[in-house]
Amino acid sequence: MKLTAENYFSEEANREYLSVSQYKDFTGTLGKVACEAEALAKLNGEWEMEKTTALMVGSYVDAHFEGSLDLFQAQNPEIFTKKGELRSEYRKAEEIINRIERDPYFMKFMSGEKQVIMTADLFGAKWKIKIDSLIPDTCIVDLKCMKSLREVKYVKDYGYMDFIQYWGYDIQGAVYQEVVYQNTGKRLPFYIAAVSKEKEPDLEIIQIDDGHLKEKLCEVEQNTPNIMRLKNEEFPPIRCGLCDYCKHTKVLERPIHYSELIGEV
Ligand SMILES: [Zn+2]
Repeated sequence: MKLTAENYFSEEANREYLSVSQYKDFTGTLGKVACEAEALAKLNGEWEMEKTTALMVGSYVDAHFEGSLDLFQAQNPEIFTKKGELRSEYRKAEEIINRIERDPYFMKFMSGEKQVIMTADLFGAKWKIKIDSLIPDTCIVDLKCMKSLREVKYVKDYGYMDFIQYWGYDIQGAVYQEVVYQNTGKRLPFYIAAVSKEKEPDLEIIQIDDGHLKEKLCEVEQNTPNIMRLKNEEFPPIRCGLCDYCKHTKVLERPIHYSELIGEV
């Protein structure tokens, strides 16, 4: 199957190729518990994730820099009020775009080829990636629109976490760098071009160093075979028991003891 902008997110493409977001669905990140059952249900088209406004605002900003904002607006009429004005969240997105465009350094990183699709075989799986801004022979850039860039998240057993590790954007960097390497023979630095949705948007170009990416790629190598066995339905997925999919599909069989309610703290 040849991937294009039109079929990149299709069910068929998701079955044939592994992507970073699928990978994270199966293995989880520090910020999100893994649910193999939900991940498979999504792949099989049995479960759809909610399109939250937070995600949509990010997509709006992405669409602007991709040059496809007109199409995005046409496909998502709900971003306008009945009077035909942009809803306040998307006016915020416009403000973020203006802030980014006021910074020449940030714009330099956004000046590459947009939404570049590449594929490669890694660890027994066919992977697909889509790069926000690829500056040939120079760097790989992914644009992220976050609630805040500096807010710390507490993770049990790990301590305080930055948003990069919390949401697994370092895993994304590791896979993107390797796939680009296999396609071009060049190992390019990976940057997150990050902007916040705060009242006054913050912005940074954040590098994830190659040493850390290498560590993350080892993790991907260890986890990929299990994901492929799940995708091939060689054994049943584990249910997390906590996500919306698990709640929606659970079937009660016995009472639980009250002490089970909060589980392991
Ligand atoms: Zn679940």
